[in-house]
Amino acid sequence: ASEAGAYDLAVIGGGPGGYVAAVKAAQLGMKTVCIEKRGALGGTCLNVGCIPSKAMLNNSHIYHTIVHDTKNRGIEVGEVKVNLDKMLQAKESSVKALTGGIESYLFKKYGVDYIKGEASFASPDKIDVKLLDGGETQVEAKNVIIATGSEVTPFPGIEIDEERIVSSTGALSLKEVPKRMIVIGGGVIGLELGSVWSRLGAEVTVVEFLGGIGGAGIDGEVAKTFQKSLQKQGFKFKLNTKVMGAKREGDIIKVEVESAKNGKKEELEADVLLVAIGRRPVTKGLNLDKIGVEVDDKGRVVIDDQYNTSVKNVRCIGDATFGPMLAHKAEEEGIAAVEWIKNGHGHVNYEVIPSVVYTHPEVAWVGKTEEDLKKAGVEYKVGKYPFAANSRAKTNQDTEGFVKHLVEKDTDRILGTHIIGATAGEMIAEACLAQEYGAGSEDIARVCHAHPTLSEAFKEAAMAAHGKPINF
Ligand code: FAD
Ligand code: NAD
Repeated sequence: ASEAGAYDLAVIGGGPGGYVAAVKAAQLGMKTVCIEKRGALGGTCLNVGCIPSKAMLNNSHIYHTIVHDTKNRGIEVGEVKVNLDKMLQAKESSVKALTGGIESYLFKKYGVDYIKGEASFASPDKIDVKLLDGGETQVEAKNVIIATGSEVTPFPGIEIDEERIVSSTGALSLKEVPKRMIVIGGGVIGLELGSVWSRLGAEVTVVEFLGGIGGAGIDGEVAKTFQKSLQKQGFKFKLNTKVMGAKREGDIIKVEVESAKNGKKEELEADVLLVAIGRRPVTKGLNLDKIGVEVDDKGRVVIDDQYNTSVKNVRCIGDATFGPMLAHKAEEEGIAAVEWIKNGHGHVNYEVIPSVVYTHPEVAWVGKTEEDLKKAGVEYKVGKYPFAANSRAKTNQDTEGFVKHLVEKDTDRILGTHIIGATAGEMIAEACLAQEYGAGSEDIARVCHAHPTLSEAFKEAAMAAHGKPINF
């Protein structure tokens, strides 16, 4: 691997951006190596992100449903208990099956070389690797893709011990269900992991600096409905509230908060504090300044629209650069960056990147919010349909939420779709397809949707946008 020009492509980082880029490059006939320092492929997403959080969300939802939602379904259960050890083991086995599958199946099948170690640039086409097993090697490559991802943004003055004061990583492996949990940040991580522990019995309080929950890009009406739904489940919210500091006293965490509106101070107590105020790019140790790769004031690698950094043949994708920090966005970029290298063209439509919050109900959206459209002065119509009027939601006894299409008044084109409901995360794929192909609400309304399915609400919301729905 150390002869001159041995590799067509070296990918630094084996997360959803990096491993997908490596597989795609190998499929296109490039001699490819992927360097990953974690000891496992899949990055944040598979190891400590998307996958373990969804395992915990799914199993905590099943538990919660059994405890709270069986009476009216003709199901009688005896004593129901959480076996947290087993639940954590189930999570770990899902993670291992997926991360191991990339190494033992995908990389072998497509012929991607895999080096376990930490990479840093010696020059734009030479990468030094400190091997996990000890020793060092150097890789030479005509092209490099930086896919080093992101890490938790620390809260100044609050020290994370991953036991009582945790980041998302610690919150995925708590040894017992806390009685009281405080979450700093009402974004995606706070609401998903807050849901896990709330369902398992914790009293969860979310402290959020802004006036609404759900993180960047959520539609205002959806955010309000979402907040009410979580409050019904037992969540407490302190909005417009700043966290000033937190300290551990024995097994208790004391959290100082202050109202952003009137400066009123308060001390809150919890058994576990989850810090979830965002993530920041990882580029430390790569030697980027030595080779001249520009990084902006937020730590993001600066790229052009072909993923080129300021250094020729060095590209960057995923969480380490601009844009939403999402696994599917990193994957799309991985493929596009490789296509730019191999074919001279690649494509990601940044207008159509879906967002999903995997709570119950789920929340999902793609395209513009009402706030975006008002700000841009676009004339639009709203086509909205509640799941309470959908036959399948009724038979499932799970009728919370709605589908909302935002439609351009002149052209009927769908500009945004916002869903809160049991399967919003799956249903949003239809909105992505519609928006990608420039569909109008009438196009969707004239497509036959199976009965009885929740997706009929998607169709009826489109009917509502340009006329009337049938069942509401
Ligand atoms: P990463 O996945 O962070 O991978 C980068 C890899 O590079 C890491 O494995 C790291 O070890 C390695 N690396 C770094 N530096 C070096 C180096 N010098 N040498 C070698 N290797 C190096 N996104 C979603 O779309 N859906 C979700 O449901 C979702 N849930 C999430 C839940 C949680 C709790 C968290 C924390 C994140 C979640 N995300 C989710 C976000 C998602 O994980 C990231 O957007 C995604 O992992 C980014 O992919 P990436 O390849 O850019 O970086
Ligand atoms: P986030 O940006 O979604 O939310 C952080 C929240 O913390 C924001 O609402 C912000 O206003 C608030 N905040 C910031 N500083 C604060 C302070 N001092 N006091 C109180 N509140 C404060 O970030 P996150 O939830 O940490 O998630 C990190 C990233 O991981 C996100 O970019 C997200 O896209 C990704 N992620 C995605 C999923 C998913 O797709 N389902 C799940 C988990 C994480």
